[in-house]
Amino acid sequence: MLVNFKTMINEAVDKDYAIAGFNVFGYEDATAVVRAAESLNAPVMLMTNKVAVDHMPVEVLAAILCKVAEQAKVPVCVHLDHAKELGLIARAIKAGYSSVMYDGSQLPLEENIKNTQEVVKFAHACGVSVEAEIGSVGYSDQPGHEQSVYTEPAEAEKFAEETGVDALAVAIGTVHRMQVQNANIQFDRLKAIQQVVKMPLVIHGSTGITDEDLQKVASCRVGKINIGTALRLVFGNVLREEMNKDPEAFDRVKLFQKPMEKVEQEAKHKMLLLRCKDVLSKK
Ligand SMILES: [Zn+2]
Repeated sequence: MLVNFKTMINEAVDKDYAIAGFNVFGYEDATAVVRAAESLNAPVMLMTNKVAVDHMPVEVLAAILCKVAEQAKVPVCVHLDHAKELGLIARAIKAGYSSVMYDGSQLPLEENIKNTQEVVKFAHACGVSVEAEIGSVGYSDQPGHEQSVYTEPAEAEKFAEETGVDALAVAIGTVHRMQVQNANIQFDRLKAIQQVVKMPLVIHGSTGITDEDLQKVASCRVGKINIGTALRLVFGNVLREEMNKDPEAFDRVKLFQKPMEKVEQEAKHKMLLLRCKDVLSKK
């Protein structure tokens, strides 16, 4: 079923697990992620980033992903990740997304607050949940494009109070699109933020977190952990293997079977680290 993330994320914090937010790019990976969530009896988020919406109009993505979510046996949230334009957010909401992230992290604090307030007003009126970012999680493949700035607890407190968002993304040591798991997580900073911000927090760029730290983060009352690169690596690498195995192969439906299977396994592996096993039956 399609849901927004407000109830999902608060319940995760209360029951001591974290929601997995996976970046997906179409039907194949979305289906694989939902199968993983169903096999674990846990809720999940399907997220689309700028790369995805540049490739496929947000209305088309919404039609596919919302249908996949509606048909799922577990709660699924369809979320627009890192939107910087209010127009795109409005289109996504109109098309059926149940959740949006406004990313004003590169703007001065007051401007970020003002724009986020506007998104919250519009989105909440439509029953759509809102995530925003304070501090900034940079990108490993675009150095200098977006600056990396650790979240300051006092700024996070002010931002959370003034904007009324449902969840807050914070920068505590991760970087987007890391291909190896060697991020240095600042648990002290996380704790300091949580002392002044009571709403669920979100960690981006989590492919770069070691399995051990991922388990630790999930037990620190973090609401959602975003994972993108890990699934993209699996899909691309397995597809390459399949094509190399049979150089004559051309049928994409057949070629996609193995990558979908492996993406499902990887999503399940990450969800288990986030303690997402059988959580829907847990009281
Ligand atoms: Zn992100």
